[in-house]
Amino acid sequence: MLVALAGGVGGARLLSGLVQVADPGDVVAVVNTGDDLTLHGLHISPDIDTVVYTLAGLHNRATGWGVATESWTVMAELETLGGETWFRLGDRDLATHLYRTQRLGEGVPLHQVTAEIARARGIGVRILPMSDDPVRTHLVLAEDAGDLPAGTEVPFQTYFVSLRHAVPVRSVRFDGATRARPAPGVLEAIGEAETVIVCPSNPVVSVGPILAVPGVRDALIARREQVVAVSPIVAGAALKGPADRLLEELGHTSSVVGVARVYAEWVGTLVIDEQDADVADAVEAEGVHAVVAPAVMTNPEIAASLAAVVLDAPR
Ligand code: GDP
Ligand code: CA
Repeated sequence: MLVALAGGVGGARLLSGLVQVADPGDVVAVVNTGDDLTLHGLHISPDIDTVVYTLAGLHNRATGWGVATESWTVMAELETLGGETWFRLGDRDLATHLYRTQRLGEGVPLHQVTAEIARARGIGVRILPMSDDPVRTHLVLAEDAGDLPAGTEVPFQTYFVSLRHAVPVRSVRFDGATRARPAPGVLEAIGEAETVIVCPSNPVVSVGPILAVPGVRDALIARREQVVAVSPIVAGAALKGPADRLLEELGHTSSVVGVARVYAEWVGTLVIDEQDADVADAVEAEGVHAVVAPAVMTNPEIAASLAAVVLDAPR
């Protein structure tokens, strides 16, 4: 069995490679829910949906979120009504949120609803939310942003979508994390996996919330030699999103060495892109085994070969 810790896009890309080189039925994806939000009364789980849509081949490659062949009738009507349209929800995508919200309202836990959605989409990978309990990522702004003064704490999607992650951040908090329990099967999967894969997701706001769920970090530390991460930072920068800036703003370094330092306690091996081959020794100096491979997944073949490297990587 293989476990993959995943955020949205980077996680979904590596998972799409993994299912080409391993039996999907052997893969458990543990997905960040710190980005979840309630909007229009609907429970939206953006990272789970990105993973589901990608593995189902429905994803929008250009945006990195939502369904590729989407229509926007509901959003247009909502706009007419003066409703909240800052977070774009396509018509097909909305069905996912309607289904999830209805089932949660019936008392079905998130992990089971997620399994139902994955099954209906024909996905063989077992997709688990990190927790059934609410954990919500909040960020404290380091500078004024429009009406919001420095020091304001905002929910993740306000930072990411409304503010276009263009404002520096002072700190990050995972609201609800101390009370949250890992979803059923998460700790067992980490404990039993041949390899625990940390997808190239945002270390601060995608991997961070998973680690904040009580028990997860200790379970990973216990398996450290089997834990293989793929760096989301390539040549000092994120390929997408604010991972590089968030690392710097929170006192880390935006480089593969910085990622190694942040992960060293619980990651045994870090896969870094060929562009970073010259700093492989510096990664090793952090006590993390470095493996160099093409790690920018511009097509399914590279994703598959990267996944194969990851499976080969534990020392
Ligand atoms: P989000 O939830 O959609 O923001 O996605 P994630 O947290 O999973 O991923 C964002 C991170 O994935 C960024 O830091 C990117 O640099 C990284 N990423 C995306 N695609 C790739 C890729 O092909 N290779 C690597 N190494 N990192 C990637
Ligand atoms: Ca995300």
